[in-house]
Amino acid sequence: MKISANSLCPCGSSKKYKKCCKIFHNGSKPKTALELMKSRYCAYVIGDAKYIIKTTHPENIEYTKDTQTWASSIKEFSQNSEFLGLSILDFKEDINVSFVTFNALIKQNAQDASFIEKSRFEKIDGMWLYHSGQIS
Ligand SMILES: [Zn+2]
Repeated sequence: MKISANSLCPCGSSKKYKKCCKIFHNGSKPKTALELMKSRYCAYVIGDAKYIIKTTHPENIEYTKDTQTWASSIKEFSQNSEFLGLSILDFKEDINVSFVTFNALIKQNAQDASFIEKSRFEKIDGMWLYHSGQIS
């Protein structure tokens, strides 16, 4: 889905995209795992596979050096999904490991594909990365 810089950010912040997640998509480092999580959700909405790949921990199960195949599967997920919103249910922050529990409202093929996930984030060289997720 294409969104303009002046649209409301899909992450649910009530800020304009250009003043919210776009800053991170353009290269700034999120200060917290929560900011990273929201900016990754937003990257799925707009199909920014590069950002998803860049912010995935090397220990993640989907991590592969074959970034071309990886990017196409991210784009496919993005194109086949209708993103209806994000709510943050819990955020536990520590220095190098943080957890965010969220509810992503998603529709695929006109069917509800929403899920609740507890994501684990780890900080490497000052950059928060998505490590893994547990879907409940
Ligand atoms: Zn945002």
